[in-house]
Amino acid sequence: LNERLTGVFDRITGRGALSEKDVAEAMREVRVALLEADVALPVVKDFIAFATERATGEEVIRSVKPADQVIKIVYDGLVEMLGGEEPVPINLNANPPAVFLMAGLQGSGKTTTSAKLALRLTKVEKKKVMMASLDTRRPAAMEQLATLGRQIDVATLPIVQGESAVQITRRALQAAKLQGFDVLILDTAGRITLDEALMAEVAEVAAVSRPVETLLVADSLTGQDAVRTAKAFHERLPLTGLVLTRADGDGRGGAMLSMRAVTGLPIKFLGAGEKVDALDVFDARRVAGRILGQGDIVALVEKASQELDQAKAEKMARKLAKGQFDLDDLAAQLDQMKRMGGLQGIMGLLPGVAKMKAQMAETGVDDRMISRQQAIISSMTKAERKKPDLLNASRKRRVAAGAGVEVQDINRLLKQHRQMQDAVKMMTRGGGKNLARMAQA
Ligand code: GDP
Ligand code: MG
Repeated sequence: LNERLTGVFDRITGRGALSEKDVAEAMREVRVALLEADVALPVVKDFIAFATERATGEEVIRSVKPADQVIKIVYDGLVEMLGGEEPVPINLNANPPAVFLMAGLQGSGKTTTSAKLALRLTKVEKKKVMMASLDTRRPAAMEQLATLGRQIDVATLPIVQGESAVQITRRALQAAKLQGFDVLILDTAGRITLDEALMAEVAEVAAVSRPVETLLVADSLTGQDAVRTAKAFHERLPLTGLVLTRADGDGRGGAMLSMRAVTGLPIKFLGAGEKVDALDVFDARRVAGRILGQGDIVALVEKASQELDQAKAEKMARKLAKGQFDLDDLAAQLDQMKRMGGLQGIMGLLPGVAKMKAQMAETGVDDRMISRQQAIISSMTKAERKKPDLLNASRKRRVAAGAGVEVQDINRLLKQHRQMQDAVKMMTRGGGKNLARMAQA
């Protein structure tokens, strides 16, 4: 993709902003890359619309090639659509046993994934896990789970012939409770294709066992079929997440994007092989890189990202040099802090900032707090961000409700902003010229 885009942008380097026409041309290449990666057409269309909107009018940063800049925008968009940088953790909050229900078509990898998950919960989360097979139609399937259990040293519910899936579920719940297991994994029966009896059975098991996690296991190699399956299951079951198996054979990862976009469910794990330890926590960045079809795309994006950060930092420093610092600037600053994992960047460009830095560290600026402050600022109107004085009591209440915080959190943020603004003014009064010169350096 990089080479193609470089071709598109060779002609336009040096202009002020990415124009609609340039972006449209670039997006044609992105579209081909996505289709080649087996992303479903409607998903491709939505994504292109979304990325186009983001890219159009973006200021061209001189130190970054426009092609790299577009790749970064596309990559960031893919990461976002795949669920963001932070993996969604599995939920273990329940009165024990926390039930995990594994659903999916036959051969999708439910039994294997049950064992992989059991191993992970035992090893990583230090949980006491029991597995039970509800596959009443195939005795061999029950035996398969028991064998895997012995292999990884995880208990399985003793097999009793002639019970229904719901009866086994009840017995498993009771056994797990009595024997003090933290987690119970229910491995359900599958059919070759979607059918109503199967759906009704799984839905009943879900109603009886009230799982904390209902995971759909789907074979990523089946592409568009997997997407249809996910949709059908999601209509019948309160799914909480997806596990995509055979990711080891899925070169491009397009089905993953489609599944996520169509169901809106987080992808929690990827099956990466037949072995019991071949289960990866889903990483949106890795998959986004794969979809764009480049091994080194992440390095490239990081480099572009650094240069963009630098350019933004310089722009802000110029603004600060004029003594301007509104809430949009604070938001940009918070974003920067979060991404750079510290208070380097802009702050580092300014003199006399060490004190402010220490102050912020003292007041406990951590990622969660930064996210909360960002939520507050993004709940304000444009005018309020430019002129925080507009925020009277009723506006503050509105913003607090929008950001899911208390009014006092807003007051704290505004106070912090005022202090920073004062500091900026003080610095510029003393050495405005110096600052301006620094900003250019
Ligand atoms: P179930 O019918 O849904 O329970 O599927 P199984 O767990 O029995 O898996 C069917 C086949 O797929 C088995 O041969 C597994 O070894 C294989 N399998 C499951 N997950 C993966 C995976 O992530 N990668 C690969 N390569 N094979 C897998
Ligand atoms: Mg099975």
